[in-house]
Amino acid sequence: MTSAPLSNSTAHWRALDAAHHLHPFSDTKALNAEGVRVITRAEGVYVFDSEGNRILDGMSGLWCSQVGHGRRAIVDAIAQQLHQLDYYNTFFKTTHPGAAELAAAISDVAPAHMNHVFFTSGGSEAVDTVLRMVRHYWAALGKPEKSIFISRRNGYHGSTLGGASLGGMKPMHAQGGLPIPGIIHVAQPYWWAEGGEMGREEFGLFAAREVARAIDEAGPENVAAFIGEPIQGAGGVIIPPANYWPEVEKICRERDVLLVCDEVICGFGRTGRWFGADFMGVKPDLITFAKGITSGYFPLGGVIVGDKVAEGFIEHGGDFNHGFTYSGHPGGCAAALANLRIMHEEKLVERVRTDIGPYLQERWLKLAEHPLVGEARMVGLIGALELTPEKASRAAFAAEEGTVGLICRDFSFREGLVMRAVRDGMILAPPFTLSHEEADELVAITWRVLDLTYAELHKRGMM
Ligand code: PMP
Repeated sequence: MTSAPLSNSTAHWRALDAAHHLHPFSDTKALNAEGVRVITRAEGVYVFDSEGNRILDGMSGLWCSQVGHGRRAIVDAIAQQLHQLDYYNTFFKTTHPGAAELAAAISDVAPAHMNHVFFTSGGSEAVDTVLRMVRHYWAALGKPEKSIFISRRNGYHGSTLGGASLGGMKPMHAQGGLPIPGIIHVAQPYWWAEGGEMGREEFGLFAAREVARAIDEAGPENVAAFIGEPIQGAGGVIIPPANYWPEVEKICRERDVLLVCDEVICGFGRTGRWFGADFMGVKPDLITFAKGITSGYFPLGGVIVGDKVAEGFIEHGGDFNHGFTYSGHPGGCAAALANLRIMHEEKLVERVRTDIGPYLQERWLKLAEHPLVGEARMVGLIGALELTPEKASRAAFAAEEGTVGLICRDFSFREGLVMRAVRDGMILAPPFTLSHEEADELVAITWRVLDLTYAELHKRGMM
């Protein structure tokens, strides 16, 4: 008898994975000791693992599955496109129908003053494109000294050198000598953790004015752009006070600094508007996108460029020495066009704004009644819970930061719901197709998970 695991078994895939696969954002040694979960199938708002468990995908994969899993129309559109034209580049005086049609379709749903699109393979490349495009734009206008970017601490803008540098994640900067020069990080609009005694609106103005302070200190003549996520995603679903973004926009305009919204998460309906900028009531000069544009069926991202930048860039920019082999990949464009068609036909953005968004928000916000929850927040279909041992003071747990979040996340997986832990909070961003019954299930599991976590913390003497 052989003791080798069956070729279609969890043990087999785990062994191969442990022997050969290095995972993003993971401690390989710890992961191999624990054994990975093998996801084999997905349908609607559920994913299934190799042990047959059905898990509600409360994170839409990685914030990308707007239209849900298993959509035949998208799969067929990709297959049909690849049969017709598997690949061609868009570098050398060529395009293909999908790239042209998608650029137009994106301009159609983008804010009215934004009508050009540069394609990439994903979000990090889109952010790097902004960094290079904006500096090129200012140089083309005869202002090459305008090169500094302002971004926020605890922002996330991807994992490339540029993206990780613009991002404000300390653990990322700690590896590989980041950030690159020319970036200034300022305060984030995170009232729960950093607002102190200030009211929310007061803190919103304070955080916005930190942007002004940084620009003025560097000299507006040296500052190219401010970049931020309308709602910080990976940083913990941080929904800024309503006055923050309009104030930041005003500050940037007064100083001739471009405004960039990184909408890799917020874009394509997550907030119940097509873009987070629409939700926040601002008009950015550039928008980065990825994820939701294809609902994750094919890697594709890009930059939507507003008319002002596009005009300067086109009129004065000459050659832009930048691009990716898969910029506007035919398969990605076909996936995106089919995905947008579904979003339009099923009115999914409207559904997030007027139906499933409000339905889930009402139930999610009630979770603040749980003894472990200090704040429950959600707009559109993106939300978070702040866990705390003492609601009134918004205190942190005595245990090392992140310990409680991980306990809660592990219970959540076990109970059949994907939530992600950020520090000691839980975050959520389900597909737009979530039904009312599935929303009820999601909230019921979350109550159960909070109860289990609460009991566990007491058992361990952690609260
Ligand atoms: N920007 C934001 C706001 C993101 O959330 C992400 C990914 N989570 C990125 C950029 C990077 O995108 P990608 O992983 O596709 O490179």
